[in-house]
Amino acid sequence: MSASIAEIAAQLQGYDPQALSAEGVGEFLARLVSPVTETETIGILSALDRIVAADLVSPLSVPPHDNSAMDGYAFDGAQLAAGAPLQLEVAGTALAGKAWHGAVGPGQCVKIMTGAIMPAGLDTVVPQEFTKTGADGRIEIPAGMLQPGDNRRHKGEDLMQGQPALRAGDRLGPAALGLVASLGIAEVTVRRRLRVACFSTGDEILSLGEPPREGAVYDSNRYTVHGLLQRLGCEVIDLGVVRDQPALLEAAFTAAAAQADAIITSGGVSVGEADFTKAMMKKLGDVAFWKIAMRPGRPMAVGRIGESVLFGLPGNPVAVMVTYLAFVRPALLRMMGARSTGTVLLKAHSAEALRKKPGRTEYQRGTVSRGADGVLQVRITGNQGSGVLSSMVQANGLIVLHHGQGNVAAGDEVDVMMFDGAI
Ligand code: AMP
Ligand code: MG
Repeated sequence: MSASIAEIAAQLQGYDPQALSAEGVGEFLARLVSPVTETETIGILSALDRIVAADLVSPLSVPPHDNSAMDGYAFDGAQLAAGAPLQLEVAGTALAGKAWHGAVGPGQCVKIMTGAIMPAGLDTVVPQEFTKTGADGRIEIPAGMLQPGDNRRHKGEDLMQGQPALRAGDRLGPAALGLVASLGIAEVTVRRRLRVACFSTGDEILSLGEPPREGAVYDSNRYTVHGLLQRLGCEVIDLGVVRDQPALLEAAFTAAAAQADAIITSGGVSVGEADFTKAMMKKLGDVAFWKIAMRPGRPMAVGRIGESVLFGLPGNPVAVMVTYLAFVRPALLRMMGARSTGTVLLKAHSAEALRKKPGRTEYQRGTVSRGADGVLQVRITGNQGSGVLSSMVQANGLIVLHHGQGNVAAGDEVDVMMFDGAI
């Protein structure tokens, strides 16, 4: 049985729904959500960005044998003497995929190609270009060029048989897909995809295709949310724009809860909203209504309707994206079974002074680039109003001005959450 809102609230020190810090939201959500348990086994070509369900133990060592890292000559490194060149007779050739099994005596070497198995007893490779070949066909290695063991790749240096190659909760990026394939494994067991339902609320919200109307705006949030969820690899259940009528809202929430692991709505959660969205959330679910010490953002509803987790985001388009990035995305990643749910923040020098009040977390849209001094700098992208999507489009990251932080002077270092990888 999952914990109720009241139970989670009681576990958190200083929980105040009217003045929650961004950090407090993260802690709350980490307790509210849990990973889906169902798994499926799929081919690796379909597994990009999926979450590994259980540790994947390597059935073999990669590489399976000691092998050469260079095209050159393999020999016993004990013959290297300080200050003296070494002459060696070439006893044979080892090719990648065709080992050389002959005996190699003192004073001998084996011509070897990159990836070829190191012949028994040999531990060092001299790259071809370091050598000279004498009239007698012997190669000469100049003094001081090599250490014993150079240019040999060790068996299992990538993966050792019996060790986990991937851990439960790892996300399958392109490198991980290749790693799985390098073990000779064609299928991988992953958590099932998360199903997320979304809809927009508000009587002033127009669906695409409707004629413009005074006081009305086109629904942009659903498209943004759709894109964000697609990036994350979720199955999106799009329930459209829902008019501000109790029967329609009830039908939408009920349909969403019946099909989805999570429900994301936008609009109708601000203080003083005249509409029915909040009332319906309260009626159907176990929901908290928060005021978060952040900008943009602030109002947010969170809880459960049936078995689904509800994220009731504010209506302003940039507030939707910021609350998603700051809170919803990490929570969804946790639900997907991911071990790592955060994004790495970069440090960049602010190109300009930024006004910031301590006591709330502020997210400003910015563009990170390399300054003339070669150091990362970030510049805000114009109008920072919470409804202004164009400055979000121009940005490549969000400057995160933390809860306790005050004004920023030009040149000060600030934290930036880069969009790349997140949205
Ligand atoms: P609300 O949170 O409902 O008070 O909405 C705040 C602002 O966001 C209002 O100006 C709304 O018109 C706008 N808004 C709400 N939902 C959407 C949406 N789906 N697409 C674009 N703008 C929206
Ligand atoms: Mg509204």
